[in-house]
Amino acid sequence: MADTALMTIPGLSDPVPAARDITPRADGRIDLLGLSRPRICELFAAAGLDAKAAKLRAKQVFHWLYHRGVTDFDAMTDIAKSMRPWLAARFVIGRPEIVEAQHSTDGTRKWLLRTADGHDYEMVFIPDETRGTLCVSSQVGCTLNCTFCHTGTMRLVRNLTPGEIVGQVMLARDALGEWPKGSMASMADADDEDDEAGHYTADGRLLTNIVMMGMGEPLYNFDHVRDALMLVMDGDGLALSKRRITLSTSGVVPMMARCGVEIGVNLAVSLHGVRKDVRDELVPLNKKYGIEDLLQACADYPGASNARRITFEYVMIKGKNDSDDDARELVRLLRQYDLPAKVNLIPFNPWPGSGYECSTPDRIRAFSNIVFEGGISAPVRTPRGRDIDAACGQLKTAAEKKSRAQRDRQAAAAAELA
Ligand code: SAH
Ligand code: SF4
Repeated sequence: MADTALMTIPGLSDPVPAARDITPRADGRIDLLGLSRPRICELFAAAGLDAKAAKLRAKQVFHWLYHRGVTDFDAMTDIAKSMRPWLAARFVIGRPEIVEAQHSTDGTRKWLLRTADGHDYEMVFIPDETRGTLCVSSQVGCTLNCTFCHTGTMRLVRNLTPGEIVGQVMLARDALGEWPKGSMASMADADDEDDEAGHYTADGRLLTNIVMMGMGEPLYNFDHVRDALMLVMDGDGLALSKRRITLSTSGVVPMMARCGVEIGVNLAVSLHGVRKDVRDELVPLNKKYGIEDLLQACADYPGASNARRITFEYVMIKGKNDSDDDARELVRLLRQYDLPAKVNLIPFNPWPGSGYECSTPDRIRAFSNIVFEGGISAPVRTPRGRDIDAACGQLKTAAEKKSRAQRDRQAAAAAELA
């Protein structure tokens, strides 16, 4: 496959390379995965269709692409048979490449994926009794270097494209066999007989929730994350409710309001410390956007309410952020800003060279009780997928030697969100 052209993003976020939304392919065809309806329409028009035909075909292809999960133009039964080879000669509908897929005995599944230009990233699916949560990556690596997080140690960082982000959700639906089947009554403009039997069904969802909690800082790749989530939320796309999507940020304060307005999903904030010196160490971005500014941005987050609380993630690290005083200060801060909050206590997942240890179970329980007594829900998350080393947020590349470093705990945090 051709190399992805890299360009630097100027402005607010750290400059990291990002692939263009259309990755050049060696065969000259264009991959439509990750593109919006208007963008697909533009491409069809540029390829020679008149405006009306381009619009109709874009609507049809969009539907097959994102709502039905079809990757073969020949399966698009409401598009004239003669039209399908024209599309196939110019366009493809791709998927991220799967390097490895693992399945845990507890149902957790993990995929190692590779971009066209050879960078590895991961997604994790965590089912429980009431929902199935996909933990999605927004970047390869992360520039933010939180000291407890393995992703922060990866040298190479590149923003994922909308196609690479939405492609994770689509791959998960492929793997779970979850695309709606049968004919579409709504596609009245069909110009070919529908040769599929049966009726349209959209039931039986295993994948019910999405958390942007995999590799990377989603608000440092705002445009691509927004564009991808728009496709996920589009009623004629993947059609997942914004109430079932949670974006986790380490606290990119200037982008939080835009996240609420332009994406409108639930917010999770990686707090991890309630004192400046401690949070400066654990989440160095705190030196730029401090705790007060962060909590004020949470208080102002559009759409937050008691029905849609903000989740505060708090990794429990022995002797660092886990004292009774820390718990009391956490309650005080959340009250001071009158935040509709819930706290996720995540046992720290050690990895070689991290220099931290997980708090003891007793300490975690004591901390949790103080927060509960302060009137804020503070469940402790339990590890999932231990046998396959499943964990989003601290992912490893294929090149790294595999170690069983108990790096799976925050998968549980992801499962409980939204
Ligand atoms: N960059 C975003 C989203 C990805 S990281 C953010 O920081 O919010 C999301 C979460 O991964 C962190 O909040 C933390 O809960 C979890 N995490 C990372 N490293 C971890 C570790 N070693 N142990 C437990 N949880 C970890
Ligand atoms: Fe990046 Fe989040 Fe890890 Fe911090 S915790 S290094 S922001 S992925």
